[in-house]
Amino acid sequence: MIDWTEIADGDTWELFARDFLSEMGFVVDVGPGRGSDGGRDLVVSEQLKGTLYTEKFRWLVSCKHNATSGNAVGSVEFDIADRCRRNKAQGFMGFYSTVPSASLIQRLGELRLEKSISSFEIFDHRRIESIIAASGMTTLLLRYTPSSYGRVRPIQKFFGDYAEIRCDICSKDVLSLSVSEPFSANLVWGITRQKPRAKQEYKYLMVGCKGGCDRALSDQVHAEGLLDAWEDIGDLCNPLIYMKNICSYTNLLRSPRTKVSDQAHQKLLQIYIAISQRTLRDVTKDDEKRFRQIQILDEF
Ligand SMILES: [Zn+2]
Repeated sequence: MIDWTEIADGDTWELFARDFLSEMGFVVDVGPGRGSDGGRDLVVSEQLKGTLYTEKFRWLVSCKHNATSGNAVGSVEFDIADRCRRNKAQGFMGFYSTVPSASLIQRLGELRLEKSISSFEIFDHRRIESIIAASGMTTLLLRYTPSSYGRVRPIQKFFGDYAEIRCDICSKDVLSLSVSEPFSANLVWGITRQKPRAKQEYKYLMVGCKGGCDRALSDQVHAEGLLDAWEDIGDLCNPLIYMKNICSYTNLLRSPRTKVSDQAHQKLLQIYIAISQRTLRDVTKDDEKRFRQIQILDEF
């Protein structure tokens, strides 16, 4: 999902590694371009906390950017134990835009066994991607891979807690799944039939996975003698369709010929909130401040 070739060269990959690791909570001791190994390695540290005793653990971070060729990182990693020793690092960390080769993993295992290094960790492209998706490092993505950011629209937890959207049949969280695979769920409405001089009621609103759960929901709706209407939830990740949908719904609420049940209204509000985590742009400090001001006004 993230196209790492958007990062132009090895130098930028190192800057990305520095920013990524500091967002994860590591302290950057030696930054890009200042290492003793021709400027190629970073050194980061973390505090290991025991009950009575805390210890600083240093990692030598080797950054390799092979996204364009797609080659695994293998024999280019040499001198590992020496590089760690020179930098007073106990652990070795590979930070790769592709994957490590099987022989590199084996070699690192041997070094750990013979205690030349205390530990090793590999951040390959998939691991980096899943950490970004899960932790909402959206600013980082926007800075380094803007095209991927536009395509991926990762979840931003700007309400503090994550708001989910679960399928009403199988309970799968279709929103979190939509980051790693295309959105595959529909909104299914249950609507009363039009009768003369009676309002048409939007009675039920439910969420169903495509190709099964959504059909089961529409069967339920038909069994009650209601009409069904479907909307693709994935479309709501498009900011323009999202706004259009909110405007259409607002018009529907004002229409003298329709009414919306409490269940459907509450459900749609939850869905708008949850979807906004993928649809809205990053919230700035000023946005948050203004939002809080309005909340205070609402209380009066
Ligand atoms: Zn389902």
